[in-house]
Amino acid sequence: MSTGVSAPATAEQAVFETILRDLNPGQRAATSHGDTPLLIVAGAGTGKTATLAHRVAYLIARGVPPGRILLLTFTRRAASEMLRRTDALLRSVAADAEGSAARALTDGHVWGGTFHAIATRLLRMHGESIGLPPGFTVLDRSDAEDLMHAVRTGLDLGGTRRRFPQKGTCLDIYSRCVNAAEPLAHVLETRYPWCRDDADGLKALFAGYVERKEANHVLDYDDLLLFWRGMLADPALGPVVRGRFDAVLVDEYQDTNALQADIVALLRPDGSGVTAVGDDAQAIYGFRAATVRNILDFPTRFPDATVLTLERNYRSTQPILDATNAVISQAAERYEKDLFTDRQGGALPALVTCRDENEQADYVVERVLGHREQGMSLKDQAVLFRAAHHSAVLELELERRGVPFVKYGGLKFVEMAHVKDLVAFLRLAENPHDSVAALRVLGLLPGIGPRTAGTLAATLAEGTDFESWVGRDVPSATSVLWPDFVALMRTLASAPASDVAGQLHAARAFYAPLAEHRYDNASARLADLEQVEALGTRFADRTRFLTDLTLDGPHWTGDFAGPPLLDEDYLILSTMHSAKGLEWRAVYVIHAADGNIPSDMATGDAAEIEEERRLFYVACTRARDVLYVTHPLRYYAVGRGRSDSYGYALRTRFIPDRMLPLFEASQAAPDASPADEAAPVVATTASIRAMGSAMWE
Ligand code: ATP
Ligand code: MG
Repeated sequence: MSTGVSAPATAEQAVFETILRDLNPGQRAATSHGDTPLLIVAGAGTGKTATLAHRVAYLIARGVPPGRILLLTFTRRAASEMLRRTDALLRSVAADAEGSAARALTDGHVWGGTFHAIATRLLRMHGESIGLPPGFTVLDRSDAEDLMHAVRTGLDLGGTRRRFPQKGTCLDIYSRCVNAAEPLAHVLETRYPWCRDDADGLKALFAGYVERKEANHVLDYDDLLLFWRGMLADPALGPVVRGRFDAVLVDEYQDTNALQADIVALLRPDGSGVTAVGDDAQAIYGFRAATVRNILDFPTRFPDATVLTLERNYRSTQPILDATNAVISQAAERYEKDLFTDRQGGALPALVTCRDENEQADYVVERVLGHREQGMSLKDQAVLFRAAHHSAVLELELERRGVPFVKYGGLKFVEMAHVKDLVAFLRLAENPHDSVAALRVLGLLPGIGPRTAGTLAATLAEGTDFESWVGRDVPSATSVLWPDFVALMRTLASAPASDVAGQLHAARAFYAPLAEHRYDNASARLADLEQVEALGTRFADRTRFLTDLTLDGPHWTGDFAGPPLLDEDYLILSTMHSAKGLEWRAVYVIHAADGNIPSDMATGDAAEIEEERRLFYVACTRARDVLYVTHPLRYYAVGRGRSDSYGYALRTRFIPDRMLPLFEASQAAPDASPADEAAPVVATTASIRAMGSAMWE
């Protein structure tokens, strides 16, 4: 770096000392490391992120202008949090320092953000030189899918040949090729073998997609990285963009992909001023083409790199660390890291068996409130789960008991479009005058546009039941479904209010094929719908169910869960992926059952299982003081009405029996009779009858 200062004067020396004051020797070495490339590989909670923040402060104190420092993080939240920490550090240092040193410390802004956000900023500044109009727009994921769909329709790929991959899959394949820098044939062979025969069609589609983006002046997420790299690789523009920065710091380097590693290397070709931190044991984005090779290859890419490790964990108590160390020690392949902590004492992590999801939700809410009672605010506690829909029952319980929460990594369950669709059938049955529900449901039927829907809703609102819809003239595309639809609505309207799950089941049977047609990632959505049905078993009547879900309430008009008021206290619900890098005093890892973690969706091969194991490790290592791992024994099978059939689930394989001594095992409701748990009777009169009648069909 050109601006480095080699021999600090005494006043500045004091500044450095203040910055380094609270750090351990390893962290100090990393923070005050010179200009040669630096890689810190260290376990969870060892202060990697904290060290990066200190290093930014140190660089500024050394005289690097803040505006020439680039800090790349995995989420926007992470960037602002780190810059806040750096800023606080610099302010406290500046308060002690005098004169010019103090002034320099708090002037100007560091470039901080995700790779995508920084790419957008740089492309707005320099994109014109490569022919990018300054007013370009960025397509989000669903926009990109829509464009892919439009091109596919134009090429007549999806229409006549229904087998052609769905738009979302096409985009995934495209994105994989671009981000992993892998040829299409290879991606199809290794990841999408069922799409192998469509290689030619996909090539044509992708070419058309690229052309269309160009013509429309739009960039998708992948383009942001591609274009950034393109600018850097250009002989004329490259030096200009590169010349903006003296230092590039990257957090969570294990989850960057090949393209991102290229960008870092192109920003600082000899590696000077590059600092990367990561943990191979926490690599959880392989499914999105991130590669731990970036960490492994760092010393090859930058031959004069220094690799530092940190071993002291500051986050968790010893019992939590013992358990999480055991979880990761079973990984097939990893760098040995011996983590230790001074935080002796503390309870063993709890391993809690619950009879079912309902009991799990009750247990978690009780504990959360119990801890709050003892002075731990809601914000200090987080509930983590593998898939966004795993929190459905819990969300409902929290709503019911008035416990505010915020969800990271997914919409709140009841806000999801397909969940609203399904519930709208019951809403309409409950109240045929509910025109919002009527329009929503009618809009799901093929051939019905807004105008027809409006007329039909109006007719309905004139009467009190669904009589007026019987035998109605409807558009020809609708006519096949119409009688079934009206029959369904009449059945729902006259069904006993108490059988909520049964009604949801009937509505789901009708709606599922429509959802499949309507939404791209249908299988995940269909799983959500099963969840809604399972939720129904919790309710004794429909009115209560609908009231508790309070769909379309005023605070749910936005697409994403809005940030709550700042002074509010709220519990965090998060997917494990979105919990990366964060920490809480109390962490509840729920649904720790095989099939959920590792996920059924991801048990294709050994590498995927390993990624799931690391994900579970990431989740458990978020805990500072207390860790709960809970797993329900039973999952109610959907489809047979109220709670009369269920399957058994096993504890996650990532906590095998030999690890049990590291946990305090208990049951959520200790009064449960053991006999009740011992007999895995799955057959029910309803299922036996169903089997019987199936014989004569
Ligand atoms: P992860 O791998 O989960 O991202 P990390 O290695 O980035 O973890 P940090 O989040 O930086 O770890 O730090 C974990 C916790 O330890 C934080 O609360 C941080 O403030 C604290 N910590 C880090 N270093 C020190 C230190 N030297 N003294 C006291 N606390 C520290
Ligand atoms: Mg971190």
